[in-house]
Amino acid sequence: MLNNIALIIFACLLTGCATSPTGRSQFLYMPKDQVDQMGLQAFEDLKTKKPISKNSQYNGFVSCIADILTKESDGKWELVVFEDDTLNAFALPGNKIGVHTGLVKMVDNQDQLAAVIGHEIGHVIAQHSNERMSQEAAVNQSVSLISAVSAPTSPIGQLAVSSLGIGAQYGIILPFSRTHESEADIIGLDLMAKAGFDPRESITLWQKMAQASQGGQQPAEFMSTHPSHDTRIQELTEHMPKAIEAYQQAQAMGKKPNCTK
Ligand SMILES: [Zn+2]
Repeated sequence: MLNNIALIIFACLLTGCATSPTGRSQFLYMPKDQVDQMGLQAFEDLKTKKPISKNSQYNGFVSCIADILTKESDGKWELVVFEDDTLNAFALPGNKIGVHTGLVKMVDNQDQLAAVIGHEIGHVIAQHSNERMSQEAAVNQSVSLISAVSAPTSPIGQLAVSSLGIGAQYGIILPFSRTHESEADIIGLDLMAKAGFDPRESITLWQKMAQASQGGQQPAEFMSTHPSHDTRIQELTEHMPKAIEAYQQAQAMGKKPNCTK
């Protein structure tokens, strides 16, 4: 028995096996602090390259939502609203959240934006970037991946930024897998409901996103990295009774977010 446990621990040390928040087993080869460092570096880089919104109403609205949501997860998070008309939001390892003003304009209410931010936080909490890098990169590339974040035009730099989910910012797209999308949806739904946001608005949000990308008025960057599978709405609907229960509990506890733009 003891031998078996020792063997499992040894195997995990070698292969980096882990379990995601939804109980799925994952292969995480990269050390978490190094992936966090990559997220941090990529975020700093974006902050120097993209204009940051000075719209106080938008900033107030988004930070009100992000503050409430991140209180339900671990650690401190940094939020930046970028002046960019595309419909996009992202979260990076190292607890960084970026939201584009285009998305802020598009949502009808706090709950819809909470759905997007919750979904993005879900990708970070479940360490999807690490998993993507572990799958895509050869083991001996891991060190170069870390330094490559600051050189997003090099091939390895492209792998680094696209694994972080922000490749579209540099013209390369690596869509999240169906597994990762489903997982981020479920984590995000639970998170928003626990924080007192109406989880039912997540379905409206995804429908609006799909419509916007089909209409083609503006490039829906978000939909290319977060592809909408036919099963997304179905899975959200299946999970909804549990989420509504959590939402009602949160509301009864006085968690009633009131973020307005
Ligand atoms: Zn996603």
